[in-house]
Amino acid sequence: MKKYKENVAQFADYHQIIQLNPFDAVVCLRKVGTKAFEVVNFNDKLPSFLTLQDVKATNAEQFFTEQCWLQLSNIVQQQLNLEQRLEICTEHKVKTFAVRVQHLENSVVAVILRELQNEVEPYLQFVEQHVCPVLTTDLQGRIIHQNVAATSQLLKEQQSLIGQNIFSLLESKYIDEFKLLFAKTIEGSAFGMPECLFKQRLLSKEPFYLRTHPTYFNGEIIGVHLFVKDATSFMNDHQAFYYLALMDELTGIWNRKALKEQWLQHLNDKKQNKQAAIILMDIDRFKKFNESLGESKGDELIRMFSQRLRELCHSKCSFYRYNSDEFIFVLKDATVDKIEQTSNAILDALKQPFMIDGQEYFISVSIGISLSPADGKDLETLIRKADKALFSVKEHGRSHYRYYREDTTTIFPNEALMEAHLRRAIEFNELSIHLQPQMDLANNSINSFEALLRWNNRKFGFVSPAQFIPIAEASGLIIEIGDWIIDEVCRYQKEWQMNGYRPVRIAINISPKQFRKENFARKIKAALKKYNVPPELLEVEITESSMTNVHETFSILTELKQLGVYVSVDDFGTGYSSLSYLKRYPIDIIKIDQSFIADITKDDKNEAIIKAIISMSHNLGLEVVAEGIEELSQVDFLKRHQCQKGQGYLYNKPLPVETIVNKYFVS
Ligand code: C2E
Ligand code: MG
Ligand code: MG
Repeated sequence: MKKYKENVAQFADYHQIIQLNPFDAVVCLRKVGTKAFEVVNFNDKLPSFLTLQDVKATNAEQFFTEQCWLQLSNIVQQQLNLEQRLEICTEHKVKTFAVRVQHLENSVVAVILRELQNEVEPYLQFVEQHVCPVLTTDLQGRIIHQNVAATSQLLKEQQSLIGQNIFSLLESKYIDEFKLLFAKTIEGSAFGMPECLFKQRLLSKEPFYLRTHPTYFNGEIIGVHLFVKDATSFMNDHQAFYYLALMDELTGIWNRKALKEQWLQHLNDKKQNKQAAIILMDIDRFKKFNESLGESKGDELIRMFSQRLRELCHSKCSFYRYNSDEFIFVLKDATVDKIEQTSNAILDALKQPFMIDGQEYFISVSIGISLSPADGKDLETLIRKADKALFSVKEHGRSHYRYYREDTTTIFPNEALMEAHLRRAIEFNELSIHLQPQMDLANNSINSFEALLRWNNRKFGFVSPAQFIPIAEASGLIIEIGDWIIDEVCRYQKEWQMNGYRPVRIAINISPKQFRKENFARKIKAALKKYNVPPELLEVEITESSMTNVHETFSILTELKQLGVYVSVDDFGTGYSSLSYLKRYPIDIIKIDQSFIADITKDDKNEAIIKAIISMSHNLGLEVVAEGIEELSQVDFLKRHQCQKGQGYLYNKPLPVETIVNKYFVS
């Protein structure tokens, strides 16, 4: 007892300490007679919580209003260290307080009033009414608050720890570890210390488990809550931590680690000899979404997406986040029917849009499936094979599913090798340009073409742009290749001019990297000049992902417009950009992405979207080109809504330049 006394803070310190408690109104009172109390000090919160009769008075009866003191004095007399609810009328308003009395020293008590129904209340309530002792310290470790359980379980005779430093209370052998923990906690994480012990003066003689949480006030960390727990609860918490380690932080579904562990369990389960399926999916064009809307919106989309798909889980089906935008369903007892059912359910679930900031976003996934044991047993092999199947889905137009097949492998040559070949493609004359006509829907005439790149490699044969353009972009080769296309297209224009063919416009696809290169407009200007091509015969197709930086985009587009070339936005509707750019930037043409056109007749919503795009574009004076027209019914629809041009297999596939010349220019 004597030892404890030495550590009790002196009166002068109380004033300082009670000011540090940002949550509660605190007033310290000293008993001076049977019913008389003197006000020792109080913190700034008190006058903001309560109307006081005379702030300067030392006598409690004159300090508080009569009505208030009537209620408070009862509680103070009884020295109740249990929360009491009080309704106190202050400024014509009745406020509800939770009040308790904390004994400080000899005849001094602290009356702690917490206003209920304020926004931090649930959080404080949690600490105050916690069954374990909770000590709250400031950033230096000084105890600014102790909850009811701390008073009753840690101390004798309702003593107080307020004002003392937590570091001086712990047994020395735990101090180093605790300091580390404390420092980490005030950086914002919660930690657990499996074993800790107070010096003898406190009642807990057994080592306990100490858990720390940052204390927040107005969004800032102002200190640490220390939860003193029974050592056995560490085990329970520990299990909870174990689960936390298997959960994906962003989405709350299982993570990659969980997948690995649970797959091992599956393999060890002797009763499990039925087929299992790995259904791997990735969000189409997620990178574009992230680029144009920013990472935090991207995260929000991932969260909503996983919540929606998680609904499809059942006892034989688990859902995991594998990588940023890659997710896996593991199906056990997987019959073909069940696999198809799940895959279709995934695609169906994404037909509804996701709402972010009041705006609707549609996303689709591509799905690759591998089967165990047929495709292998070990997880890595199965995922690699599912990934190959998935890649082949992307190749063939996205948004559907495929099973892995042995021959899928043949279309996946090593990317590094492909890049090495692509580096020499121009030199070896392996690149060529195909042209696809754009049909004027009003009068069935053709006055423009899109130039599409083709690569015929001696090792790989014809490689699809969907496969080699990303490699060219990632390696930077796209700049050189892009320059080559600009030059080629202008060269053709010059040749046709010389041959006396009628003038037509040619659109060139420009990758974001090339578009953003500082001399892009100058390059176009130089090519036009070199071959003496009128600028209106050249069109620059950019995608929404080229336009992420407003100032940069605006200045490049303005330069292009000054040259007199046309500018179109390719794959419109898939890039998640804000529509406001249409008004802001000097753009001439919108190319509606083929995914909308493909579903025109199947889906009312697509119809509505296309109608809206066309009418909005017309209002802004833009021309509209529909891509991917394959059926007459699509043409009917587009004509009805005054879409100016159409491009697609219905009219012509992209064809070699000589074929186009023979077909459209040489009579
Ligand atoms: P894109 O610019 O949107 O080109 C349209 C794609 O749709 C072309 O695929 C074209 O062959 C295909 N297509 C045209 N009509 C139809 C149809 O009726 N049905 C279907 N299903 N498809 C149709 P391609 O040539 O494989 O090119 C794919 C993408 O590769 C292009 O999409 C473009 O983004 C990129 N690309 C092609 N050439 C170049 C290029 O020279 N430079 C750059 N940077 N990208 C290019
Ligand atoms: Mg294009
Ligand atoms: Mg396109």
